[in-house]
Amino acid sequence: MVALAADFEIKDPKAFAKLFPKGAKVKRLATGMQFLEGPAWVAKEKRLIFSDIPANEMKQWSRAKGVESFRKPSNNTNGNTLDRQGNLVSAEHGAHRISHTLPNGSVEMVVEKFDGKDLNSPNDVVVKSDGSMWFTDPDYGLGERKKMQAGNYVYRVDPKTKELTAVIKDFDKPNGLCFAPGEKKLYVADSGGPRHIRVFAVSADGKSVSGGAVFAKIDKGGPDGIRCDKSGNVWSSSGDGVQVFAPDGHLIARVLLPESAANLEFGDGLLFMTARKSLYATAVRAKR
Ligand code: MG
Repeated sequence: MVALAADFEIKDPKAFAKLFPKGAKVKRLATGMQFLEGPAWVAKEKRLIFSDIPANEMKQWSRAKGVESFRKPSNNTNGNTLDRQGNLVSAEHGAHRISHTLPNGSVEMVVEKFDGKDLNSPNDVVVKSDGSMWFTDPDYGLGERKKMQAGNYVYRVDPKTKELTAVIKDFDKPNGLCFAPGEKKLYVADSGGPRHIRVFAVSADGKSVSGGAVFAKIDKGGPDGIRCDKSGNVWSSSGDGVQVFAPDGHLIARVLLPESAANLEFGDGLLFMTARKSLYATAVRAKR
């Protein structure tokens, strides 16, 4: 691990002390990659899976072995998460689909079309406790492809019936998303023009959302991946690293990085941050 001079900017010391242990330092775990995204902690195997999008590769990191290859080619996978059984669910940027990795290792397509037309480029994905997968579909990474969808939507898919619903339609570039503890609220980042995070109320049946007020604005760069912790704080990637917001929207602290972060993840007492060419971590008390 390489220690860095940059660490934290603390705005709310009391809240900060609950989230980070005393003396926490930012460390660089690995570098020399291309554009990192999609960190997902696999607790039972104590490893972090993450994506190097342009390298068309998924990698894994563990304390024992450092960084190794996990899957190549990866269909330029971007966001990753685990389902309730611990199986990987991925937003395949290049294949324009959501995929599910089965326990035997085979990769199955979950959804690639809405309304009979190709999706744009699924970017990030989360799984709700009912097993439904919620994902964002901005139009980054269309490449030579013609855009088939009228907008950049947030979708919900039932993995059993494959029924796909556009749950939010008024984003510029919907990107990271996370459910608050209890799943009564959904946060979605807009990495396009607005560069903010909005908060939605989840309906009683858990299948749709309403509202969508601005929860927090990212003042350095834009928000990409976001995570909610167990206490309801919202952690957002940003141009300066990671910004942590309390449930009422005030800024608790910034984790400062020398590269722009695209996503973050909690695991094994660490906060992992995928930031351009490098993977960073710091000790953290917060949990997901
Ligand atoms: Mg993203």
